[in-house]
Amino acid sequence: MENNIKEKFSRELFGEAFTCFNCNDERVDNNYNYLCKKCFDNITFITRACERCGDKVNEFNRYCDNCKEDGVYNFDSVICVAKLDGVARELVYKLKFGGKRFLAKCLAKFMAKRFLEIFSDKVDYICYVPITNKRRKERGYNQTEEMAFEFSKLTNIKVYKNLFLKIKDTTDQTRLNRDERNKNLKDAFVIIDNAKLKNKVVLIIDDVFTTGATMNVLANLLRKKGVKRIYGLTFCHA
Ligand SMILES: [Zn+2]
Ligand SMILES: [Zn+2]
Repeated sequence: MENNIKEKFSRELFGEAFTCFNCNDERVDNNYNYLCKKCFDNITFITRACERCGDKVNEFNRYCDNCKEDGVYNFDSVICVAKLDGVARELVYKLKFGGKRFLAKCLAKFMAKRFLEIFSDKVDYICYVPITNKRRKERGYNQTEEMAFEFSKLTNIKVYKNLFLKIKDTTDQTRLNRDERNKNLKDAFVIIDNAKLKNKVVLIIDDVFTTGATMNVLANLLRKKGVKRIYGLTFCHA
């Protein structure tokens, strides 16, 4: 932890413009969203995406193989910046498990760039995937909330803070079958009672899109509040 504090301190005072947020190497310019060119070039960007889940597809396909089969979701579509591998995965893990809170700014920059390039609908609110209070105490922050606020600064879209609560831990689901997992996940999240979201357009921020199950549960809660359109935006797609 001490190293993290030192690193953050020196980065904020002297280093932000000159060192890579991932490897700490020297960074000669600002063209790579706080990364050096080498780390940036390691990222597998999703340029051609499945129209439902945002996964990488080749130029002839509208949907990925998963969505062709049973890709029925409660949200409209998802944008994902990169595949979960190499440096992209390192960034996600360091932010989530390594205490490197400042990385939210780097991921949000990538997400805002992509979002502003390709997205045309008008979003009323940004929200984010919550974690339990217990997890928040351990980690000191919720990484998706950090990302949402950094993203908000770059896009001027308002964050709906604490719209969702996570009331049950879902990390250890290994002993449950698929139906039990879905039920467990569904019971884990609630939306605040007085949320005024009728006919609004909402964007859900998460770090990684894996099966879409979490985003699906949150989208379902939003639908019940009368939300008109629901989009997702993540840094990675598994
Ligand atoms: Zn680097
Ligand atoms: Zn898909």
